[in-house]
Amino acid sequence: MRARHKPWADDYLSSHPEYVILNPLEKKGKWQQVFGNNQPIHVEIGAGKGRFVMGMAKQHPEINFIAIELAKSIIVSAVEKAVEEEPKNVKLINFDANDLRDLFADNEINRIYLNFSDPWPKNRHEKRRLTYHTFLAQYQQVLASDGKIIFKTDNRGLFEYSLMSFSHFDMLIDHVSLNLHEDEDPLNVMTEYEEKFSKRGHPIYRAEVCFRK
Ligand code: SAM
Repeated sequence: MRARHKPWADDYLSSHPEYVILNPLEKKGKWQQVFGNNQPIHVEIGAGKGRFVMGMAKQHPEINFIAIELAKSIIVSAVEKAVEEEPKNVKLINFDANDLRDLFADNEINRIYLNFSDPWPKNRHEKRRLTYHTFLAQYQQVLASDGKIIFKTDNRGLFEYSLMSFSHFDMLIDHVSLNLHEDEDPLNVMTEYEEKFSKRGHPIYRAEVCFRK
């Protein structure tokens, strides 16, 4: 996802501490305190402009959502949505998910959403794919034992790669769909990319995966 450089992004993020967690490393092990309740925590990694997390938060007030996005110029759009919609169960973090274990204690979160992750098609960039085994090792540590990962993409190459990566990691793969929109699911919350690519006729791939106990 490309976005124009926004020189005002830093100031804007700092001016919304009710949604943007500015010192997220200090919250490790204390995320339920941040939300002020003991609801389960679902995390979206690479949240983009926040459409998915806002839709999910509205649909599931019984869940706390944390959206992580690396690019400042992109996460500002998610903050704008939060300011407009005022969700009580969403926090946003401008952070590189490469350091996820610095952010969450072991077993602290209950679900991870990976939506339309950057495919990094060149072999030399494999390590940047969010389903590369080093990321899976982090997810395993921070996810509760009954936690799961839900992965959606329109990129067939990334989907096939990810299924292989999950399988090499000895994960359990469930509920695979090779065309998510084939059946109308009123509960499916679309992301920005999902809307864009499904409108162009791309099939949307989806899988649910978990670690063996
Ligand atoms: N999930 C959104 C959607 O479906 O519309 C955005 C998809 S976009 C292709 C991928 C997003 O992941 C980009 O905004 C990118 O900045 C973010 N991203 C990539 N690597 C990341 C990382 N290591 N940590 C956090 N965000 C990351």
